[in-house]
Amino acid sequence: MSSFGVPDDKNKPGDDKKDKTKKADTSTVALSANGVLEETETELPDTLEISFPSHDLYTSWDTETAHPYNFKENFKNDSVEIQLTNEYDCGFTPPFCGQLTSLYGWRKYRPHYGIDIDLETGEGVRAAFDGMVRVARYYKGYGNCVIIRHNNGLETVYAHLSKLLVESGQQVESGTFVGLGGNTGHSRGSHLHFEIRYLGQAIDAQDVIDFEKGELLTNTFVLRKNDVENKYDLRALHSRYRKDLGLAYGNYKDKNGKTYKIYYVRKGDNLSRIAKRNRTTVNAICKKNGIKPTTILKPGRKLKI
Ligand SMILES: [Zn+2]
Repeated sequence: MSSFGVPDDKNKPGDDKKDKTKKADTSTVALSANGVLEETETELPDTLEISFPSHDLYTSWDTETAHPYNFKENFKNDSVEIQLTNEYDCGFTPPFCGQLTSLYGWRKYRPHYGIDIDLETGEGVRAAFDGMVRVARYYKGYGNCVIIRHNNGLETVYAHLSKLLVESGQQVESGTFVGLGGNTGHSRGSHLHFEIRYLGQAIDAQDVIDFEKGELLTNTFVLRKNDVENKYDLRALHSRYRKDLGLAYGNYKDKNGKTYKIYYVRKGDNLSRIAKRNRTTVNAICKKNGIKPTTILKPGRKLKI
């Protein structure tokens, strides 16, 4: 069963600008004792002071973009300990108990950053932890989707829902119904696509939750930079894998919008071998790179494929 994240998973840093909260108009007009109209400041709550969960960590609150963060820029440590629940939070609830039908990992053409749980359309999907709904909207890939920012620093994604039961800005407790399961967006067959992310970086949900028992594996999850590089950053891993096989990798666009991959010439390479391995022709490579079939290629040279 396939389902995809939002079509473009690129990070869009600098989302502080997008903070959509507006300053409440707190000025009111009152009559003073001597009958003169004067403006006074009343004690209405300032919406800028709404405490978004984990705001010190994220600094932005974007209700439109699914993943506006830049993990690499913001994650400066080698590891972080994430306290999943504490006495002030209501604990953990599995979003849905059902058969896992697709796991975290690379699919044929794209990464799968979540796990898929089989369900029937209309069955209730619950918030995993306490927090506040950041996003509740439709995306082409995710379909009807809820993203919750939690007090523990994580964000969770609930996708392909048939109905949204919460709205952006709403406080939820662990176990609150956030939507009904469905088959919206890029989805074949009704299921829940569930993701766990930290600063935008997806984590394999099975490293956090025992889905069979419906409980947390540990209450303190340690996210290591090393694990991100070797386990969770699926695009980077896929590129590395292709590179090791001597295949061009990446997905780049030239000025004319044509896509290409890149290939770094290795010792002992020649054009016909590179072309054969990457299922293209010597002529096509020459044309794309402005070289001749007789051009001598030094190891390390970058070619467009
Ligand atoms: Zn999925």
